[in-house]
Amino acid sequence: MDRIREVDPVAMSISVDAGAILKNVQDAAATAGLLLPLSLGAEGSCRIGGNIGTNAGGLSVVKYGMTRDLLLGIEAVLSDGTVVSDMRKLRKNNTGYDIKQCFVGSEGTLGIVTGAVLRLAPLPIRRATGWLKLAMGAPLAELLTLVRRESTDLLTMFEFMTARSIALASEAMTNPPSVGAGAGGTVLAELTSSSRHLDLDGLMEAVLAEAIESGWIEDAFLAQSGSQRSAMWEVRETIPEGEKRRNGSVKHDISVPLSSIQRFLDLAGSQVRSYDADLELSVYGHVGDGNLHYNVLVPPGVDRIEFTKRIESGLSLQLYDTAAALGGTFSAEHGVGRFKRHLLERYGDVGRIAAMRRIKTAFDPADIMNAGAMVRPLGNGSAS
Ligand SMILES: Cc1cc2nc3c(=O)[nH]c(=O)nc-3n(C[C@H](O)[C@H](O)[C@H](O)COP(=O)(O)OP(=O)(O)OC[C@H]3O[C@@H](n4cnc5c(N)ncnc54)[C@H](O)[C@@H]3O)c2cc1C
Repeated sequence: MDRIREVDPVAMSISVDAGAILKNVQDAAATAGLLLPLSLGAEGSCRIGGNIGTNAGGLSVVKYGMTRDLLLGIEAVLSDGTVVSDMRKLRKNNTGYDIKQCFVGSEGTLGIVTGAVLRLAPLPIRRATGWLKLAMGAPLAELLTLVRRESTDLLTMFEFMTARSIALASEAMTNPPSVGAGAGGTVLAELTSSSRHLDLDGLMEAVLAEAIESGWIEDAFLAQSGSQRSAMWEVRETIPEGEKRRNGSVKHDISVPLSSIQRFLDLAGSQVRSYDADLELSVYGHVGDGNLHYNVLVPPGVDRIEFTKRIESGLSLQLYDTAAALGGTFSAEHGVGRFKRHLLERYGDVGRIAAMRRIKTAFDPADIMNAGAMVRPLGNGSAS
């Protein structure tokens, strides 16, 4: 169940078994000079079926979208043994319901995915990676718009990190780079190009000069080598480990419309301060996609489970209320499962939840596929 079935360099697609490890699929695409534009921390162990089940996003959603946007075809087995076989590599296929999309983000509740066809892209051969030290109160959405526009949309990654998150990562690294953070945090931005004719570094320098002129960034560095680039990315990727070493964190995987990011940060900051002024935060995330990991650090020496229970039954709901009021969600990329089902019931549209329930019943009438995840089990009197 982990075979690479076919790479089609002309259709720019790859057909795989759902058990294939993401990294192996990336490597098979790269061997054909192509990119599977799905990259996440778990890529060495997670499988394509799991990426589909969670609608995984990762680092380059700002350019290529989530797993949902990469899926061209699917093969799946339903709970009664029916095989849904639609392993076509078509970009255009207006022939009825898009059944494959039902499985994306379904968390294993509708059937077992056994195969997938994924969209590929030209392999980038040039990268320009910038470490942007933000001025206090720098408008993230406007900065993102500037970088996208002035780079003719070659932006592939746009990650935000607060000074606290960077410090936590640096403490957990053997050789942290001495890049530091601006008063308003840092953005790690990357442009990529599959063309050797573009002066990507020159373009990035011009974009950064304009951002400095606008007063939104205090200073910026451009990675001068592969190892400098890796060191910058290592900071971003080591934040979860840094939080763990300190005593862990209560995670909030918030998503809000880009236009409301700054408002969310302001409102949530005041909520945290009035809840408990001594709480410390680690805030970072794929801001290019409107996704913030708004994590409350567990104070050293405090019982993690008790603290988590206290925060989740109080402050977390205030933060989710704020995200919801701004048109956002309590789960950008971590899914729902069983633990967050009550949040879906609290914040989800009633009609949408009823439609989900009907889809679940149509695909899995006996409720044997990951029962209880995302939607309430049958027969307990709830429409959700
Ligand atoms: C270090 C780390 C970094 C991460 N970074 C990101 C990130 O940046 N962005 C992001 O979106 N996510 C991220 N994740 C979460 C990520 O989405 C999942 O880890 C990964 O996609 C799940 O793949 P898996 O093979 O581990 O699936 P599992 O954990 O085994 O399963 C995940 C879900 O998919 C369902 N599922 C699994 N296989 C199938 C199948 N064949 N058919 C139907 N359903 C199936 C399961 O029932 C389950 O509900 C990260 C996780 C880790 C550990």
